[in-house]
Amino acid sequence: MATKAERIEDGILRVTLPLPSRPGHVHTYLLEGDDGWTLVDTGLGLPDAKERWAEELAGLDVRRIVITHMHPDHVGAAADVRELTGAEVLEGELDYQQCLLVWGNPEWPARIVTWFLRNGVPSAVANELLEVGFIYGSFIRYAEAPTPLHAGALVDGWEVVPMPGHADGQLCLFKDGVLVAADHLLTPISPAIGLYPESRPDPLGDYLASLERTIELDARLALGGHGARIDDPSGRARELLEHHRVRLARTAASLSAEPRSGYEVSLNLFGRELKPAARRFAVAETLSHLERLVLEGGAARADADSLVTYTAA
Ligand SMILES: [Zn+2]
Repeated sequence: MATKAERIEDGILRVTLPLPSRPGHVHTYLLEGDDGWTLVDTGLGLPDAKERWAEELAGLDVRRIVITHMHPDHVGAAADVRELTGAEVLEGELDYQQCLLVWGNPEWPARIVTWFLRNGVPSAVANELLEVGFIYGSFIRYAEAPTPLHAGALVDGWEVVPMPGHADGQLCLFKDGVLVAADHLLTPISPAIGLYPESRPDPLGDYLASLERTIELDARLALGGHGARIDDPSGRARELLEHHRVRLARTAASLSAEPRSGYEVSLNLFGRELKPAARRFAVAETLSHLERLVLEGGAARADADSLVTYTAA
């Protein structure tokens, strides 16, 4: 039996796995090296993940597993694939700390619900997270004690390039003009750039700098974690810079002298008709833009114990 993975080009295969929620699929990649294959990301730890990976990897000698970031659709089946292959798992240090903080921490769901409430999210919308998080939690089997990956290191000839923004610890791999981008660069959807508790203070600022870095890299091909391959990565990075410039302007235009919470501003930016999970993403995305505006001098934040609000500066 041989793998049915899709060939992208010499030495690069793509395995696409299903997701129960949008965008419905996640791409993982297999990179061929001198001593075997490197698997980049693992999909969600669905109940049949191990059997599925046994089929996908048939005939391939996987020597290492790189985790690009700790979101469920990337890290979720890491422990399963490690058990299956015996391969070494590599993950950024900051990313693994956040992985433990979020997925290995029974206190986390209450912590993040409190944080959403402080940002003005109605309790029904915030509390739904507890139920959903409970279901999702069983699909996340991250690998414990991974080998730390450092910026600039080489993994079988691929350079580790940090691209913080979508996740604080987001890592990409770069070689011969190919950027394995995971969720740093996507098309046609744009990567979610959200602010979360215990995360770096200015994820949008981080992301804009990562997009500039992408343009400098001048890759000929970027391979994202969702959606289509990107044959003009620098052009896509410029589009995303423009997308956030426009959204920052709309965020600024939503502010006045009257204090508004991140939730209230999100109603302006993303409309009023969102399901709870989508609303929480919208609020996190709104907050990353509000915090960038605060740093640029275009907004002011007032922190109170029960509510965080923003005004035009
Ligand atoms: Zn993803």
